[in-house]
Amino acid sequence: MNKPKWNKDYKAPSSWDEMFFGASNGVGILPSPNSGFRTLHPEIDSKACIKCMMCWVFCPEGCIDKSGDHLEVDMDYCKGCGICAAECTKKCIKMVKDGETE
Ligand code: SF4
Ligand code: SF4
Repeated sequence: MNKPKWNKDYKAPSSWDEMFFGASNGVGILPSPNSGFRTLHPEIDSKACIKCMMCWVFCPEGCIDKSGDHLEVDMDYCKGCGICAAECTKKCIKMVKDGETE
């Protein structure tokens, strides 16, 4: 099994400003991409998004990137759990079958 490895150099953030984002951006929580088990993926309606960042906070993979003009999900690390959609304040994240788009 392709088990994720714990990055021993990882230090927990001491404040909101230091919170990490994106396992693929070197945080080392889950440095291995998903193994292809995902069946759904999130699609964010950027026009409806108010950037409250609840999805970003709750995403267990840390794979929602907030560095650009709008939020983007790193699909290499998203496992399709749907927590972001469940927590979205504006309900503007839809879970869509992989291979399909809204
Ligand atoms: S579906 Fe899960 S892993 Fe993917 S972005 Fe949403 S909360 Fe993160
Ligand atoms: S939780 Fe919904 S409204 Fe808030 S930042 Fe995420 S996508 Fe936007």
